[in-house]
Amino acid sequence: MLQKIPSLNQLIHELSRLPGIGPKTAQRLAYFILRAPNEYVQGVRDALKAVKERIHDCPICFSFTEEEDMCHVCKDPMRAGDSLCVVEDPADIERIESSGVFRGRYHVLHGAISPLDGISPQDLKIQALLDRLEPGPDGEQVITEVILALDADLEGDTTVLYLAKILKDMNIKTSRIAHGVPIGGDIDYIDYRTLGRAIENRVQV
Ligand code: ZN
Repeated sequence: MLQKIPSLNQLIHELSRLPGIGPKTAQRLAYFILRAPNEYVQGVRDALKAVKERIHDCPICFSFTEEEDMCHVCKDPMRAGDSLCVVEDPADIERIESSGVFRGRYHVLHGAISPLDGISPQDLKIQALLDRLEPGPDGEQVITEVILALDADLEGDTTVLYLAKILKDMNIKTSRIAHGVPIGGDIDYIDYRTLGRAIENRVQV
């Protein structure tokens, strides 16, 4: 039973809303924070404030960035401009980068299509993706290959099907990372070597 300490209960409540944190863990964390030195708590407060104030979406790929304008990948002239890797979350980019296999550019959808959760293509950065795939002013197709590095779950599959159909009509080579990604597998939990192989062994869709 929780003690009648409203501010502590409030902290436990807020912490329990974090992903993967149940009520017991939330309680343990809250007591840890309560006993921690003020400097530590100040550090956490500053870090929370900084991420909310300084980080914004890159206007090109919609990954997170702290740069003034676009992110470091979009800015990098050494990255291949003809292939684009589509991911669900900004954190997926870090994992693919550690695999060292992909040298093109990225596009973050910020989720996947999920009719059950009421998430439709309009709720994702899909139109922005299609805009990026439009041919240049000279009519030349700049991006010629799209790699869909989406989760191997129902939402990922639905999104792959949706995008593959549109991209086929646009005549863009489209593939999906495959081998090594377990069915129902979140790419969050795949180690970078497996992910590297998954990208190398991508299959056309
Ligand atoms: Zn970017």
